[in-house]
Amino acid sequence: SGATAPYPYEAPVSQGLFDRAALVTPGGVNSPVRAFRAVGGTPRFMVSGTGPYLTDADGREYVDLVCSWGPMILGHSRPEVIAAVQEAVARGTSFGTPGEGEVALAEEIVARIAPVEQVRLVSSGTEATMSAIRLARGFTGRAKIIKFAGCYHGHVDALLASAGSGVATLGLPDTPGVTGAQAGDTLVVPYNDLDAVRAAFAANEGQIACVITEASPGNMGVVPPAAGFNQGLADLCRANGALYISDEVMTGFRTSKAGWFGVDGVVPDLMTFGKVMGGGFPAAAFGGRADVMGHLAPAGPVYQAGTLSGNPIATAAGVAQLRLLDDAAYAKIDAVSEELRTLVSAALTKEGVAHRVQNASNMFSVFFTENEVRNYEDAKRQESFRFTAFFHSMLEQGVYLPPSAFESWFVSTAHDERAVERIAAALPGAARAAA
Ligand code: PLP
Repeated sequence: SGATAPYPYEAPVSQGLFDRAALVTPGGVNSPVRAFRAVGGTPRFMVSGTGPYLTDADGREYVDLVCSWGPMILGHSRPEVIAAVQEAVARGTSFGTPGEGEVALAEEIVARIAPVEQVRLVSSGTEATMSAIRLARGFTGRAKIIKFAGCYHGHVDALLASAGSGVATLGLPDTPGVTGAQAGDTLVVPYNDLDAVRAAFAANEGQIACVITEASPGNMGVVPPAAGFNQGLADLCRANGALYISDEVMTGFRTSKAGWFGVDGVVPDLMTFGKVMGGGFPAAAFGGRADVMGHLAPAGPVYQAGTLSGNPIATAAGVAQLRLLDDAAYAKIDAVSEELRTLVSAALTKEGVAHRVQNASNMFSVFFTENEVRNYEDAKRQESFRFTAFFHSMLEQGVYLPPSAFESWFVSTAHDERAVERIAAALPGAARAAA
């Protein structure tokens, strides 16, 4: 389809699939934010992806600014990644033994990210943060943890308190099913507020196992750490005998070759990864100081395991993807991101729509407010009804945005001039719709 082709807005095939799905799956989806609850309408069932484009079940093509919520940093169906997967799958899909692919992926991670001396592979970001926290508790012999309002670390029981996007989108400040005991050792403090962290340490002396933070948050929209904030966290942790866990599931291998660590250089004790490192397959990891990681079974007493951890197909895809992510790739992603930020802001300004485009390296999102967003409370003050109108206009014109005002937008190396032109062509109408 061409850049200017009008998109009939109904999606009957997707709607039919969604109806079928709703009979057999709660809410018709396997992850809540896919359901378009925040924006309304029919979630698009995608059937294929090539480069920066997705094609839905009704045969319509979209420029994709979700990139599977981050992983598809080389675009869809990148031939080298597909070839690596095909080569691996021809040898079998899972052995439940050690394999060379997982060694290669661990070596890639350790080579790129200096604070990671050792790494353990898991299958989702949730498992990574859950395991990192267990390890921090096992290592320190302490129970309490500090997290930030608006930071999401997966659906770990203890971390589903003030957890940003998915939860915010659903209007659930907390969730049934998490017991008081499970959340009781979690202290939630406002983001970008070192005094609040200092106070939490003071009120819980000798009891804090770790502080976990998104290296640069993307789950309340993109809200970068204020200058000195991450270093301040690292210093407070060190001074109080707690571990500093930097969650790079979203930022890792995305915001630079060494993720957000490559941007701000703050050295954590433990880090978590996912998304990009799996090349579109379920692969994630946690790693860090060798003396801490040495406490994990079977080297040490802290138990952690997984039937499909280090799966050969996932590791083959991850290694292939990481090896293609050189300096030139990041320069390209950064440039496309900057161009899009400028275009979006110009279109909204032209229509007089109050907004802030915030970015953390190449991750960015649009807040419909004129005030800088420094924490979750600020983010929630935006006029998200404007995002809904903006989103649907973009969708109708063939641009697929994350279906919530509290998400990062993602670009890939495959977002070329043609894709950018298609986005640019859609923006004036979307900005008018948001006005
Ligand atoms: N941590 C962060 C920062 C994330 O953005 C996410 C997912 O979006 C997770 C953890 C959880 O990862 P997963 O969805 O793979 O369990």
